[in-house]
Amino acid sequence: MTLLVQKFGGTSLGSIERIKAVAQKIKSSKEKGNDLVVVVSAMGHTTDELTNLASQITIHPPHREMDMLLATGEQVSISLLTMALNELGTPAISLTGTQAGIITESAHGRARILEIRTDRIKNLLEQSKTIVIAGFQGTSLGIGGIAEITTLGRGGSDTSAVALAAALEAEKCEIYTDVPGVLTTDPRIVKNAQLMKSISCDEMLELASLGAAVLHPRAVEIARNFGVTLVVKSSWDNLDGTTLTSKKNHIISKGGIEHRSPVDGLELLEHQAVIALSNIPDRPGIAADLFETLSAGGVNVDLIIQATHQINSNDITFTVAENELDNAHAQCKKLINTIGGEISSQKNLTKLSIYGAGIMGRPGIASSLFQTLSDSGINIRLIATSEVKVSCVIDAESGKKALRSVGDFFKLNDKQVTLNPINENNKEPEVRGIALDKDQIQVSVKNVPDKPGTASSICSTLAEKNISLDTIVQSERKHKDKTKDISFTLKKNDRSEAKFALEELISDWKGSKIEEGNAIVRISAVGSGMPFTKGTAGKIFRALANQNINIEMIATSEIRTTCIISEKYGEIALNEIHSCFHLGKNDI
Ligand code: ASP
Ligand code: MG
Repeated sequence: MTLLVQKFGGTSLGSIERIKAVAQKIKSSKEKGNDLVVVVSAMGHTTDELTNLASQITIHPPHREMDMLLATGEQVSISLLTMALNELGTPAISLTGTQAGIITESAHGRARILEIRTDRIKNLLEQSKTIVIAGFQGTSLGIGGIAEITTLGRGGSDTSAVALAAALEAEKCEIYTDVPGVLTTDPRIVKNAQLMKSISCDEMLELASLGAAVLHPRAVEIARNFGVTLVVKSSWDNLDGTTLTSKKNHIISKGGIEHRSPVDGLELLEHQAVIALSNIPDRPGIAADLFETLSAGGVNVDLIIQATHQINSNDITFTVAENELDNAHAQCKKLINTIGGEISSQKNLTKLSIYGAGIMGRPGIASSLFQTLSDSGINIRLIATSEVKVSCVIDAESGKKALRSVGDFFKLNDKQVTLNPINENNKEPEVRGIALDKDQIQVSVKNVPDKPGTASSICSTLAEKNISLDTIVQSERKHKDKTKDISFTLKKNDRSEAKFALEELISDWKGSKIEEGNAIVRISAVGSGMPFTKGTAGKIFRALANQNINIEMIATSEIRTTCIISEKYGEIALNEIHSCFHLGKNDI
């Protein structure tokens, strides 16, 4: 028998008719010969309604009582769905999170799953029962053995489902929802956005703002770590939906399902070179010209970074493999001769990267990486961050030392450390999907001292307040007083807290100041094939140039290219980039 975990969301269970329809669906899946574990959310908007009830009593409800309250929502749906199944002649039994053996940490309202004690579920499966389990909740072991009901955080029943699939080693975890699956971009903005047949968990995590609306990122993280095949599809039809794939396949260890170390691996890529173009004109089309020239010349570019511009000139920095440096340099020279500007380059560099799904949403990880490097006296030449990876370009001679200190800091074993990874071309598309993030602001810290530890102290100051930075760019250009600028984007919500914390930090740095840039959006194109394809960046920049859109900042990581542009062009840009990669229905 094949074991499937199927999860049904609140909308799919929004009324008695819908509960009956879901029961029918489960029945026919059972009749195909599958063993079934079903995970459900609360009916419709129940969780919001319960929260609202509490808020009419107090603005500070105790977290424990909130969990008691919210957990009831899922208890309603498990019992009703179970009754509906039994009524159809499908023997079923409901279990709360506690009864299902879902053990979590004790943090009420945001508990992470530690382990699932599957004995009871396995026994019931042997009796051929369909098991209906309350999502979003579990139990802490409690101090002195007193168990407490916990909840995982809003949207958490996706996480319950995938964790159960991992613990039971199910064939697949199917998430039934009210959308057909994961789309190539936001269909409210791009009319011909289409359903993806498949996407890797890493790509999904990088497309955070696009993906999070469809699936709880913690669920994707678990699927990625334990190699669970995850399918997202609509409850209303019988179409295939989107399959999320992953290469990783860890064994569930004592560390717990969601409590693995946030950093999974460390890589060192040697023989890298940096080319920096400075004082080039700041106008639409320059980045496009540059990266088209490079790809026409056969150069495969890795990281690209464009700092915020001074009045009307720009700096663009990028990395290539050392053996491509001369060619790349020659291509740049050609262009500089016509547009103006200066060019400099440096060999003997190494790229160090840490990766792991757990990096997402934990700003302390990047900051401890920078801190560890600066404690070892290593200067960071370039930084590239993404949702699941942080890379630093450093001097080659510091490479081995960096590997040791970073490996020790994150307690990685030999198997988790790779020197010069060989990435085979996996024939994946260079761009799979595009996300528009309207929730960011652009901040620059001007005139910071150019010495090891500066970027790290900015990041750690913010990390202490749990504020994540994105798209960090250190300018190449030094001011007359030898200082530099560091720019980044952060969530609008974090604006005032971030400014407050940074003001205090820079009070020690003479002449340094904080500036907020114009209103911006962040557009990210993501694809696993990107590192193997020449010219992807050039195409993105050309798409923007075609609409006469100026790029304020560029930052890339291995499978993602992000451009920061003025807010007013966000939707045009999204449409243009989407169609330039032929991602839409009927795009030619
Ligand atoms: N009922 C919970 C919520 O609304 C959990 C979920 O639906 O995933 O957040
Ligand atoms: Mg949901």
